Amino acid sequence: MAATCTCCSTSVDWWVRLRSHPDLPICHNCLAGLNGQRDGQLQLMTGTWLITGFDPIFKVADVTRSVAWFDGAGFETSFHDDTYAFAHRDRNLTIHLAQAADDELPGHGVLYIHCQEADRVAEEWRQAGIDVEGPRDEDYGKREGSVTDPDGNVISLRKPHSRRRCRKPMTRSRSQADQGARFGGRHLPSHERSAPPLARGTEPTA
Ligand SMILES: [Zn+2]
Repeated sequence: MAATCTCCSTSVDWWVRLRSHPDLPICHNCLAGLNGQRDGQLQLMTGTWLITGFDPIFKVADVTRSVAWFDGAGFETSFHDDTYAFAHRDRNLTIHLAQAADDELPGHGVLYIHCQEADRVAEEWRQAGIDVEGPRDEDYGKREGSVTDPDGNVISLRKPHSRRRCRKPMTRSRSQADQGARFGGRHLPSHERSAPPLARGTEPTA
């Protein structure tokens, strides 16, 4: 099921729409353009500088080995050259994998990522043969886990605190059409139906 974006007229499989005008689909590219407009305005409003993204750089001993590891961990990887590569995940995360120079020690990088599906990520990593710590409930109220890449760079995984929930979660008894209305226009594939792309600050229904 496709829709035509109200903004750019492209036919797309996935889209968002205004709550007040569910008949006006907006494609992800145009949504990103709107976010860019907002960022420009925020910069004008504050009269200062605005961070629109940030990437960690992990120093590694062997870029090819690191790319293979991040591949196995479910990242999309690409080489800039023999000494520099990238591991991408989703829209926002790019880890730079930089060959450590002669006077540099590889490792020592740390990255903290937030994910609603922390346990699912951990399970996928385990199935890929990666040693995963946790996730477990910590006494300070978070659920956290971590993995370590071949150089000792650490990726910590944290499930957002349930108190950040801002609306009642969906129940599974609701129709697909209702889910479509809330999450966009497309019916969710069955494997995502139990874990729909939630708005920030909400919790999965499982
Ligand atoms: Zn569009």
